[in-house]
Amino acid sequence: MSAGPAGAPAPRPDVLADTLAELTWYEVEAAARRGAVLLWAFGVVEQHGPHLPTGTDVYVPSARLREVRRLLAERDVEALIVPAYYWGVNVVSGSFPASWGVRPELMEQVMADLLAGMARDGFGHVFCFSGHGDALHNRTVHAGVRAGRARSGIDISFVLEPELAERLGLDPDDPCLTRHASPPPSPTSGSGEVDVHAGRWETSLMMHAHPGLVREDVRAQLAPTGLGPDQLAVWRRGYDEARRTTPLGYLGDPASAGREEGQETLRTGAELAADAIEARLRSQGHRG
Ligand SMILES: [Zn+2]
Repeated sequence: MSAGPAGAPAPRPDVLADTLAELTWYEVEAAARRGAVLLWAFGVVEQHGPHLPTGTDVYVPSARLREVRRLLAERDVEALIVPAYYWGVNVVSGSFPASWGVRPELMEQVMADLLAGMARDGFGHVFCFSGHGDALHNRTVHAGVRAGRARSGIDISFVLEPELAERLGLDPDDPCLTRHASPPPSPTSGSGEVDVHAGRWETSLMMHAHPGLVREDVRAQLAPTGLGPDQLAVWRRGYDEARRTTPLGYLGDPASAGREEGQETLRTGAELAADAIEARLRSQGHRG
């Protein structure tokens, strides 16, 4: 969160900030004519332990997309950010409060309708991102991309790391995917301890992007869950099994999180995505 003008309080986090929701239709139409591409995050409202807000999976990808847009602009690729989609699919956290989801087929159809509207406005490329690790949510993003491509005929893809594509069992050569390079190993990888939800990795990102929303006093007191791959597999089955495995709602080590680590993770994630987007656009002879 940036500081406000001298003497004014810092602005509240705003998920519509820097999106095309702040533009007029004249400005959106003109951007489409100039060949601007669209960036769109798919998050969810979901519990994130006792220290992070339920909108974490919306705030984090929104921050990442702002950085992706900045990096693309440096390479003469204009991008607009679509307001984040936040009614996703929840399996893992489905038994916790404030963790609602929609049926995958509904999300897929909403995506296809909105993507068709973007195509009608003259946009030729839409890059979709996920802010939420749930496997069914990500399969649904993929299904929505496929449906949007079939309906609109424009270039729509799901930007993701190869590890996620593999976990979902997707074909690496699927035209619906823009696979970026693997992120560097996290500081905790190799320790045998899993850190996947509201732990060190995700808490670091929120401490960087929206420190005012992190319950610092609570975070500092949280013990590491110390769970391994076997328990991760149980947790991933979701609902009551996830709640029994992680009764506090986080899986990892939030107390060891840090703001600089979050900044670095966000920057790296944005660079990898911008590289892959630029390569895809060049391979298609994109003007802009
Ligand atoms: Zn999350």
